[in-house]
Parts: sequence; C-alpha cells; structure tokens
Amino acid sequence: MNLEFTPEEVAFREEVRAFIEENHPKHLEGMGNREDMSPEDMTAWHKILGKKGWSAPAWPVEYGGTGWTATQRYIWSEENARVGTFMPLPFGVSMVGPVIYTFGNDEQKQRHLPGILSGDVWWCQGYSEPGAGSDLASLKTTAVRDGDHYVINGQKTWTTLAQHADWGFFLCRTDPDAAKPQEGISFILIDMKTPGVEVKPIKLIDGGYEVNETWLTDVRVPVENLVGQENMGWTYAKFLLAHERSGIAGVARSKRGVEKLREIAGSETLDGKPLMSDFDFARKVSQLEIDLAALEITELRTLAGEQAGKGPGPESSILKIKGTEIQQRLTELTLEAVGSYGTPMYGSIADASSNQYPIGPDYAQHSAATYFNMRKTSIYGGSNEIQRNIITKMILGL
Ligand SMILES: Cc1cc2nc3c(=O)[nH]c(=O)nc-3n(C[C@H](O)[C@H](O)[C@H](O)COP(=O)(O)OP(=O)(O)OC[C@H]3O[C@@H](n4cnc5c(N)ncnc54)[C@H](O)[C@@H]3O)c2cc1C
Repeated sequence: MNLEFTPEEVAFREEVRAFIEENHPKHLEGMGNREDMSPEDMTAWHKILGKKGWSAPAWPVEYGGTGWTATQRYIWSEENARVGTFMPLPFGVSMVGPVIYTFGNDEQKQRHLPGILSGDVWWCQGYSEPGAGSDLASLKTTAVRDGDHYVINGQKTWTTLAQHADWGFFLCRTDPDAAKPQEGISFILIDMKTPGVEVKPIKLIDGGYEVNETWLTDVRVPVENLVGQENMGWTYAKFLLAHERSGIAGVARSKRGVEKLREIAGSETLDGKPLMSDFDFARKVSQLEIDLAALEITELRTLAGEQAGKGPGPESSILKIKGTEIQQRLTELTLEAVGSYGTPMYGSIADASSNQYPIGPDYAQHSAATYFNMRKTSIYGGSNEIQRNIITKMILGL
C-alpha cells in the first residue's frame, strides 16, 4: 500500500481546502458540541455541500455520489477535521440513504434520495427498544397489515435527535410467528408527523438534549413505505449497521483533537511548568498518538480494500472499537489537563440567570460536557462488547 499522495491527490487536497475556506460558515468552526448548536447550525454545512454535490461522497455517482476514490474521501475527511466542520448527520447520508438506493424501489429512490443529499430532510433511526438493544432481534414493535396500510404500535428508545426529524426508519415485527426472531422483521419508513408518533426527551448527564423515547400508537403507514421485502428487514438492518460503524472511528477528528490537547497541555501548568513537560502526562499523550497512528493505518488499509471492491466486514467492528476507545481517552486527557475549569459548575452549563459564569480559558469550557457525552460512543452503533463478539464470529469462526 502506497501512503504517498500522487500529484493529482495533492491538487485535490488544495481544491477541497480552498472550497472549505471559502464556504464553511466561520461562526461554526470548531463547534463539536451539539448541546450548543441549533438545528440550523447542524445542517448548515450539509446544505452547502448538497448544493455543491459533495454531501454524500461514498454514494454511487448515479445516485448523487462524487465518484471520489477512497484516498480522496480520506483527504476530504482530513480537511474537514482541520477546521472542525459539523459534517452531515449520519442518519440520512450514511444510514438510510444506502439502504434505499440498494434495496428500495424507484419511487422510494426518487422520493427520498434528493432530500437526503440536500440536507432538507432530517432522518432518525428507530431500531432500539427498552428491551431490545444488543439483542435487537427481540424487538417488539409491531406492524400489522390493514388494507393499504401498516398499523404500528410500540416504543423505541435512544432515538437520536428525533425531536427535529421529518422522517424515521424503523424496524418493526411483521411476522410474530416466524421460526427465528430475525426472520419476522421489516424495515419501514415513517413520516414523523403521522398521528400517533410521539417523541419525548431523555435528559443526559452532560445537560444536552440529544436522545428521545419514541412512542408509536396506532400509527397508520402506507404499505409503499416498506423498504425491500416484508420480513427481510434484518438483512437491511445489518447492512446499515456495518456502514454506521465504519464512520464512527472518527480518525481525522481525533487527530485534530490530539493537536488541540497538545496545545492545551502546553498552556496549562503543573508545579509551575507546562503540563506537557510532565513525564507521566506526556507518556499518556504519546501512547494515544501511537494508537491513533495504528488506527489510521488500519483505516487506510480498509479504504484500500473498499477501493478494490471489498465491502465493510469485520474491519468496521475493529475500527469502531479502537476509534471510540481513542475518542474517550482523548476527552479524559483533555479533562485531566484543564482540571476544575472543565466542570459544568464553572463552565459549560453556566447560566446567567443562576449567576454562574464561565471562568477559566475558553478551551476548557466544554471539556466536562464532552467527556460525559463521549461515553456514548462505546455503546451506540452496537456496544463495543458486541463488536468483539462479531469479530470473534467473523474472523475466528467461533
Ligand atoms: C447516545 C446514544 C444514542 C443512541 N442513538 C440511537 C438511535 O438513534 N437509534 C437507535 O435505534 N438506537 C440508538 N442508541 C441505542 C444503542 O444502539 C444501544 O444503546 C446499544 O445497542 C446497546 O443496547 P442497550 O442500551 O439496550 O444495552 P444492553 O443491550 O442492555 O447492554 C447492556 C450491557 O451489556 C453488554 N452486553 C449485552 N449483551 C451482551 C453479549 N451478548 N455479550 C457481551 N456483552 C453484552 C453490553 O455491551 C452493555 O455493556 C443510542 C444509544 C446511545 C447511548
């Protein structure tokens, strides 16, 4: 594998760097914390990319992808990470979009793909239920056929950002008598404004409002919203999860995070000296960088495989585990570096009406909230323990 960029790739990097510099909204640079962002902020860059035709680089060109090579896509994510852009949310572009263009019919493609590309339609993912997370196939939400409609009843949970969603993709049980639980599930698209859909917030420890309970009571959904075949939803759900996991590694963002951590640890002091000159702290930062470099090579190898026509396999689980462990260690070290300046009491949840004002440097303000928020990464997209089970089965054949 050749890790040197060709002259064409260097020219491509210049082109995307210039585009980002000219077009990325300046007030959003470096904003990584959702609790601060309005829905408009979260979709601003997506909409700009949609107009340019760059919102879904990995899609096939016939459906609106860019046709970039895997290396060009790698350069693209590096360049975005450099300025801390808020990339398109995964639910449309990385999750339901590929399911629709792979398994959906022409009408579904024409109806849904343009809104996903432009960023005008917000999607959410209705997989997990209170009793069905890791054991997703035990889900209980039912879809019962009634003429031209399904009538859907059940409860989903942890539905990320469903409070802003226009549409959701849901896994529902259509055959309660199937021999195996996986065989009776269907993949159904639901307009979130349909009567009977109710979204209720779950408050998180970081103070943000990011996830919800979604209740479905006698929700009538036209049968044309079924994707693919009835009772085949498990196949589409697994296809989607492999795509979801590859994106969770976040290598480019972590590299930017480590640079920032080095800057912070150069400003903060311990016993009157820069924290970065403390042997123990420097050792932890170096170990993180070594692990990140190893992950980057693994990701590049996976991308090279994709370029050669190999779909995401167990590699996506490996990238998910290592990528999220690194993200968590990064936030731990950042919080360790800023100490009490990073705690909500002093910083990020400061509220003028309660006479609490942020103190300490700007870079510290969100460290505690981010630290807490990033605990999620080893749980969502299939927990890291479950990824280890997948690796065991796929690689060791156990
Ligand atoms: C912030 C956040 C956002 C999310 N967003 C969404 C969303 O938008 N849509 C959606 O559908 N879901 C979403 N999820 C749900 C997520 O996919 C589940 O939380 C996850 O699959 C784990 O399921 P669970 O929470 O029910 O935990 P459980 O399945 O109850 O697991 C509890 C613990 O037991 C371990 N465990 C369970 N089974 C095994 C096993 N067989 N072997 C080894 N260990 C095991 C798990 O690893 C975990 O540590 C989100 C979750 C979070 C935290």
